[in-house]
Amino acid sequence: MNQQEIIDLFKQSNALLTGHFKLTSGKHSDVYYEKFTLLKQPSLCTRICEEMAAGLKDSGAETIVGPTTGGIIIAYDIARYLGIESIYAEPGGDGRVFKRGFSLEKGQKVAIVDDVLTTGKSVFEVIDLVKPYGADIVAISLMLDRSNGQVKFDYPYRALASVEANNWDAEKCPLCAKGMELTQRGSRKF
Ligand SMILES: [Zn+2]
Repeated sequence: MNQQEIIDLFKQSNALLTGHFKLTSGKHSDVYYEKFTLLKQPSLCTRICEEMAAGLKDSGAETIVGPTTGGIIIAYDIARYLGIESIYAEPGGDGRVFKRGFSLEKGQKVAIVDDVLTTGKSVFEVIDLVKPYGADIVAISLMLDRSNGQVKFDYPYRALASVEANNWDAEKCPLCAKGMELTQRGSRKF
């Protein structure tokens, strides 16, 4: 699948909406993303995970690590395609922790996966968690990058697709200026 096909799949599942939205932060945006609209549909989600798995095939990854919550689903499905194991990183301490007996060994080859990259916070937390084990981060794979190219990693990184998203303070919103109808998050059935 090429980038446009990935984006179309997000749109098809109603996970990626374009228009004029009020975000929980109060800001207005031209893009709204509800990832669980996609993640709740395994038949669509798995097509993207298969694509991510194909991209990780030659990375040598022995374990896939994802951050809660979306990352659990994605890591599990990618690992299933690759025939390797998946674990997940949960909130704890100052960032993320492994629970449930999850651990990594020195030199273990790890790929970090997640759904959408906005600020990169959850991925950076997973990196900080994995590094002290001496594990080898061989790849970072994301479904969708909406950081507008702002987030960079020191490891091989790939997002299947990038979307540009603009956020504005309400009083500076050009869509309000155009008189475009505003959709309050969650107030409309799509
Ligand atoms: Zn607006």
